[in-house]
Amino acid sequence: MYEILIIGAGPAGLTAAWEAEKHGIKTLILESDKEIGGISRTIERNGWRFDIGGHRFFTKVDEVYQIWDEILDKEDFLLRPRMSRIYYKNKFYDYPLKASNALFNLGIVESVRCVLSYFYIRVFPPKNQDNFEDWVAARFGWRLYNIFFKTYTEKVWGVDAKTIGSDWASQRIKNLSLIKAILNAFQINKSGEIITTLIDKFKYPKYGPGMMWETAYKKLEAKNHKILLSSRVIEISKENNTYKVKIESGEEFEAKNILSSMPLAHLPKTIKPIPDNKVLESGQNLKFRDFLSVALVIDKKDAFPDNWIYIHDPGVKVGRVQNYGSWSPYLVKDGKTCLGLEYFVNIGDELWSMEDEKLIDLATRELEKLSLIKTNSTHEGYVVRMPKAYPVYDLNYSKNIDEIATWLSSEHKSLYPIGRNGMHRYNNQDHSMMTGVLSVRNIILGEKNNIWKVNVEEDYLEEISSGRLAPTQKG
Ligand SMILES: Cc1cc2nc3c(=O)[nH]c(=O)nc-3n(C[C@H](O)[C@H](O)[C@H](O)COP(=O)(O)OP(=O)(O)OC[C@H]3O[C@@H](n4cnc5c(N)ncnc54)[C@H](O)[C@@H]3O)c2cc1C
Repeated sequence: MYEILIIGAGPAGLTAAWEAEKHGIKTLILESDKEIGGISRTIERNGWRFDIGGHRFFTKVDEVYQIWDEILDKEDFLLRPRMSRIYYKNKFYDYPLKASNALFNLGIVESVRCVLSYFYIRVFPPKNQDNFEDWVAARFGWRLYNIFFKTYTEKVWGVDAKTIGSDWASQRIKNLSLIKAILNAFQINKSGEIITTLIDKFKYPKYGPGMMWETAYKKLEAKNHKILLSSRVIEISKENNTYKVKIESGEEFEAKNILSSMPLAHLPKTIKPIPDNKVLESGQNLKFRDFLSVALVIDKKDAFPDNWIYIHDPGVKVGRVQNYGSWSPYLVKDGKTCLGLEYFVNIGDELWSMEDEKLIDLATRELEKLSLIKTNSTHEGYVVRMPKAYPVYDLNYSKNIDEIATWLSSEHKSLYPIGRNGMHRYNNQDHSMMTGVLSVRNIILGEKNNIWKVNVEEDYLEEISSGRLAPTQKG
């Protein structure tokens, strides 16, 4: 009988075990994959290491930095400069925007149009701002929305921006507005506030994010936590206030409390007794966007200076290009470098199903079309597919989450959903980690942290002192 059983060995699950260790509790972690780190893993192919998307280690929560520093040795955790640009209509825009570069690229006429369009929308804002398009247009004007937001967002989600909930915009673009972007472009930020979208330095493990989580895994194992890989949880049944958890091999484990970072969407159909239809349907209605990355080895020491480039241009399918040599010099070797072309896909669609060789060919041609490399400069490529990379925020997602959360809080008080897909939240590692930490404290210390209210981006979280959430977070 385990006091705490954890589903998933990504950042949320591993950090939860890390916290439990601080209270003397040994956990069992069941991980369906044969690798550690979830979406924050680092892939290794033929000595090349690359992320599932580049993973910046940045947070407003000191406690998260503290945990990262406990896991990794100082010299393994680099501080890296950020450089990124947007590619649109054959031009590269610095991102974060720089006044001179944006004005030069847009031209004076288009710049004036953008400003007029901004004033127009301030006077005539869209009435219904519950969707991404109207929410962003209301803050930037239609012209800037079309240049800097529409095409990229539609590539990421594969649907019309009108059908994406505004929550995604408010979470991703956060407290940025045109005025703040312009002030930032002129390097004026009087309040000293941190706008996450714009930070210019971030921490990064020298061998990629997987290094953080592989190290946590080894240290937890050394402290007698049991971590079983290739162990997909297929059934959770509750009897007399304890849980029986069954994995694919048929083996079963008993636990008093479960922390689950498996997709919230899958929980209702995994649990016995089976919940009512409304809950089951809510799970089925939570959707995901999948992801694939084509890593190309380039026969050159450096490709370009950016860590990544957003490709807004609708003329190519690629959505973002990562430059791993700029993330860490330890990711590249032999006078060559490695670029990652990211495609946002749905399982089973044309790109997802395409043979690896054809994807490598497509990625090479698209890179040349973007004038980033010459086709004959690459002879080696690898394809990585990541299902359920993005929980989709459609117009009904929060109703579906509420339905499941309400059922869990009445029927399964000892089952704690944590993490990204675990809570169906489009969030970074720091959020996943904090939901794991706080759930463990609820179990062991009897704290009453409301995990659903953890939002590491909100300013009130800056009230966190001495590693504890401020009282506003409780309840
Ligand atoms: C393209 C991209 C770029 C990103 N960039 C950043 C960034 O710059 N900075 C940042 O901090 N974050 C970034 N993120 C987000 C980051 O990857 C996630 O926040 C983080 O990995 C979530 O951790 P998690 O443990 O909650 O979930 P996951 O990483 O999804 O881990 C969950 C684990 O549970 C396992 N699992 C699922 N179902 C079962 C089951 N039934 N039984 C057993 N195990 C199961 C999975 O195999 C997985 O290992 C990015 C994400 C993407 C997709």
